[in-house]
Amino acid sequence: MIDNANHHSTLHQTANCILKRDVDDLQIIPYLAVKLLRLTIDNTARAAELSTLLLSEPSLAEKVLSSVNSVVFSPNQKIKSIQHAIKILGDSKVRQIALNQLIFNKLIYQKANFEFEQLFFWQHCLFVATLARIIATSLNHDDPDVLHSAGLLHDIGKIILETHAKINYSAFIRHCEGNIEPSPQSEHVFFGLNHAEIGLVFCQQWNIPKQITASVYCHHVMPDDNSQFLDCKLEIAIISLADYIASLQGIGSNTVKQTPVLHPDVLEQLDIKKINIQKLLNTADNEMQDSCAIFNIKFPNIYKLRAALVQSAILCSSQNTQSNLLAGNISVSSLTIPHRSLNPDEIVPATLAAIQQDFHFDRLIMLNINPKQRNLETTYTWPESLHNSSLQHFNIKIDILPNTHLRSLRERKAVIISNNQPENKVFLEPLNIDECLFFPIVSNERLVALLYADNHTSYRSIEPECINHIEPIIHELGIALANAQCFMQEKNRAELDSLTGLSNNRMLTELINSTFKLGLQQLRHIAVGFIDIDYFKNFNDTCGHQVGDEALVMVAQIMRSLTRPSDFIGRYGGDEFVFILQNTDKHGVHSYAERIRLEVEQQGKILSRQFNGHEITISIGVSLYHQEFDSYAKMISAADSAMYQAKQKGRNCVVVI
Ligand code: GH3
Ligand code: MG
Repeated sequence: MIDNANHHSTLHQTANCILKRDVDDLQIIPYLAVKLLRLTIDNTARAAELSTLLLSEPSLAEKVLSSVNSVVFSPNQKIKSIQHAIKILGDSKVRQIALNQLIFNKLIYQKANFEFEQLFFWQHCLFVATLARIIATSLNHDDPDVLHSAGLLHDIGKIILETHAKINYSAFIRHCEGNIEPSPQSEHVFFGLNHAEIGLVFCQQWNIPKQITASVYCHHVMPDDNSQFLDCKLEIAIISLADYIASLQGIGSNTVKQTPVLHPDVLEQLDIKKINIQKLLNTADNEMQDSCAIFNIKFPNIYKLRAALVQSAILCSSQNTQSNLLAGNISVSSLTIPHRSLNPDEIVPATLAAIQQDFHFDRLIMLNINPKQRNLETTYTWPESLHNSSLQHFNIKIDILPNTHLRSLRERKAVIISNNQPENKVFLEPLNIDECLFFPIVSNERLVALLYADNHTSYRSIEPECINHIEPIIHELGIALANAQCFMQEKNRAELDSLTGLSNNRMLTELINSTFKLGLQQLRHIAVGFIDIDYFKNFNDTCGHQVGDEALVMVAQIMRSLTRPSDFIGRYGGDEFVFILQNTDKHGVHSYAERIRLEVEQQGKILSRQFNGHEITISIGVSLYHQEFDSYAKMISAADSAMYQAKQKGRNCVVVI
């Protein structure tokens, strides 16, 4: 695990890229919660500080008192003040109740999202917090309270991703469904950073006790010898164990089936014999019943828990047998390699390389099926150098493939075509080989490509058994390609305007934001322009909204056809579009804008019959960068007022300021 200042600053930057707002601008938990988290046993006047903090927020104090009264069931004594509650229950318990309330109210008590299921998640956090505190107590930890907080927050990264990421955690869960396990690794591939990493970014921001931050960051992977969290191994191990116990009983952080894993290092840290598991579960269950009453959730009954336990055991053992069966002569990396990325340009070559390493083919080629041309076309090769050499003959005509083999491939079976059978010679001789192997690659239940392999230089024969070993790798490759496609769709959905296919407002703000971080030298040659359709309300009224949409698409297409790939165009919203040109000047941007205006005018004339005689035109306002623009908002507003001037001048014209 990488763990140094540089890495932390990279995480911070990545977090800024994937969240809707900058880390510094987001208030994930209330400041009062941060203050409560900072109250450790080292605070000598903890009880007094706690009561001052709670009294500063009367609505919270009231909630705490009502929780306290439901926990302490005593018909002849109602606890009426925070001080009284602290006296009866102790400051630890009162602090825990307050923290639970604050975090629940801010993070969970919103409309529970279907995939992410916030309440289920909350139950997991509470259970881990409770288990961790009891484990810490049985191990004579000096501050079991800090483990309660760590348990409560250990998965906070997930809820941050769900509520504040541009592509939320639910999208990730949907993306995993049926294909991949939602693990920190797959999160990393999907988001660019996993829940532990984003949790770390925020814990550091809050400056809360190190043991909590360490548990958030390391509960899936123990810190290595160079880690700054080395001295928190005990707390991390407690959280990992609590997390494992919760997951084993079906109270994982989400409802998707996951194999619970316990890192061997965890047991090295804990004297497990000191923990009476039966007593632990008994106490934790009782406490959970109290918490459930407060938060109105249903903790599973004993039979559900037992069933979940059996299911976990089945899941674990089925995975063990599967991996034994697959062992053969393939390395584990070949199976996992397709899932290392969501970019086919990385997935496919890496998978080909892994197959090459395990099976030593002279060459491996991925062929895409072009049904129109009835061709198999080379898309990726291994070694990569092959692609530069002459591979024309690898654009194989489907019709020259021997018929029986073609049928097998359609039925998704791998085939070895060898010159033992005379009818195969027509196919093999031009390729100058004795035999070759074809594997169908199935993605989203469709045959999408073929893997071709041969030994054209060594003439080694291809062992038929290798098919059984390669099959699972190809299966994973198919799944990985489907995931990649799904990821692209999600990404596009988040970044593109669905009507015109241009970038949407959010992408635009991000781009302008990052453009403004460029050096002055580059900024000086930047221009931002606004395009607004003239009298579009009227157009909609006369032609209807649907025809209005067609006009918007027309303008977008014209912009697309007249813009260099290095420049940026997007739909700002409604009938407004934006462009950002780089390396331009007053003259350059004016003639670009004029070209677009003219083209719209001309097309508008041509289409006016379809548009009830309405001739579409646009007004364009452009602002060139000026040193006075100390923020991008000023540049945008300058372009907007240029556009307004263009409207004032009579519309269908360009104004540059
Ligand atoms: P002006 O020349 O001053 O720009 O006049 P205008 O009527 O175009 O005024 P404005 O730009 O304020 O009006 C925007 C109109 O664009 C309002 C709405 O009817 C229309 N509009 C916004 N979004 C859509 C959309 O997605 N589809 C369609 N068909 N029309 C839209
Ligand atoms: Mg308009």
